[in-house]
Amino acid sequence: MFHDECAVFGIWGDIEAARMTYLGLYAQQHRGQESSGIVTLRSRTPASHLVHKGLGLVGDVFSEEILRGLDGAAAIGHNRYSTTGENLIANAQPLTANLQSGPIAIAHNGNIVNAKSLRESLIAKGAIFHGSNDTEVVLHLLSRNSKNDLVACLKDISLELEGAYSFVILSHNKLVAMRDPYGFRPLVLGRRGPSLVLASETCAFDLIGAEFVREIAPGEIFWVDDQGEYSEKLPKKVEKTAHCVFEHVYFARPDSTVFGRSVYEARKAMGRELARENPTAADIVVPVPDSGVPAALGYSAESGLPFELGIIRNHYIGRTFIQPSQSIRSFGVKIKLNPQAQILAGKRVVVIDDSLVRGTTSQKIIHLIRQAGAREVHFRLASPPTIGSCFYGVDTPKRSQLIAATKSIDEIRSYIGADTLGYLSHDGLMRAVGADHGGGFCAACFTGRYPTDLYGLDRE
Ligand code: AMP
Repeated sequence: MFHDECAVFGIWGDIEAARMTYLGLYAQQHRGQESSGIVTLRSRTPASHLVHKGLGLVGDVFSEEILRGLDGAAAIGHNRYSTTGENLIANAQPLTANLQSGPIAIAHNGNIVNAKSLRESLIAKGAIFHGSNDTEVVLHLLSRNSKNDLVACLKDISLELEGAYSFVILSHNKLVAMRDPYGFRPLVLGRRGPSLVLASETCAFDLIGAEFVREIAPGEIFWVDDQGEYSEKLPKKVEKTAHCVFEHVYFARPDSTVFGRSVYEARKAMGRELARENPTAADIVVPVPDSGVPAALGYSAESGLPFELGIIRNHYIGRTFIQPSQSIRSFGVKIKLNPQAQILAGKRVVVIDDSLVRGTTSQKIIHLIRQAGAREVHFRLASPPTIGSCFYGVDTPKRSQLIAATKSIDEIRSYIGADTLGYLSHDGLMRAVGADHGGGFCAACFTGRYPTDLYGLDRE
């Protein structure tokens, strides 16, 4: 099972394309920390690509010298986080190949759910795969398509792909953006002077001073070349979009606008809904930083209870979730979060986090909050119980490891050691993300209802 929490970026028509891409990836580091890569289109004939990829954070993978070497006025980039252990550099993106038509590079956010069967049939026909990720399938499908127009090929292969894809693709003469008809993952279009930019999130545009133009629509293929900009619809239609609600709950940066709604506002609204649904007699509202902060502000505003930063976070370590083993993950909570006794001692505390997955983090935090002298701990989650794995590009553990999939609310409460436990309802979440004003969301992680066929992927 491959998990691809990723960031994509693309730029066309900027002599500093690699540097802009570096910054765009830097702003989107939260979407993936395992590997990072940039491909540029060299501005000489014959057209060729320059590639640099490495394992680690954007700031570690690229140096001034490397960026200077990546010349060209167009580029794409990718940050990747994956849980598959082996052959990491072969899976680092953008993936590149030389097709009959010339060089191609592809950066993918999302997960193609029928990749396994596509891969098996390609291997049976003689294809050789380098890595174990789902994106390589796309390169093989492209290489086998006999049409010599990239956009026509991509439209053809979109009929074979099922699942989540926000692609940014660089060929020998164009930059392409293509988003699956469900619109699972975000993909936005911006402008920076004469150059055109693409990114997973708008926070990338803020950093490089680009202006947000619009989303790449679900089911849209958009491209730019030296002649102009074009947009067409992919041939495959679906009844309803399925925007990933978890982007709003946790994944996206709060300073981004995702699916037309400010992530910060959505999270605050989740906190307000949560306070309405789960009022609590308490003295203070304390977020689990940073993921619980906007929701805790909303909870505090709605309930009238004072907001306090009762837990201070050390910012110089990664998210505890993104660690290789259970033992390190548990240790991570202690080095990352420090509850403040001077704020918590003797208090009845409402603690707000965005989501509860395995329950490991919450259990540790509650223990530390009690050690700091809190009298009561009321744990509140700004999303519903997580009961389903994600097959569309968010890294969630297997269903059997999701505490809410196997335990009742009271059993979870007792496991994490809270006095009371409350979750936001599904309806409350949908109101907060603005789903009642149209716009279909995928909430499979909270409902277990998947918008596509899963092609035999293991739900357990
Ligand atoms: P857990 O200890 O497994 O219950 O993890 C819960 C914590 O992980 C919460 O603080 C969430 O903010 C965070 N979290 C939830 N989903 C993810 C994810 N897909 N990737 C990284 N962190 C996550």
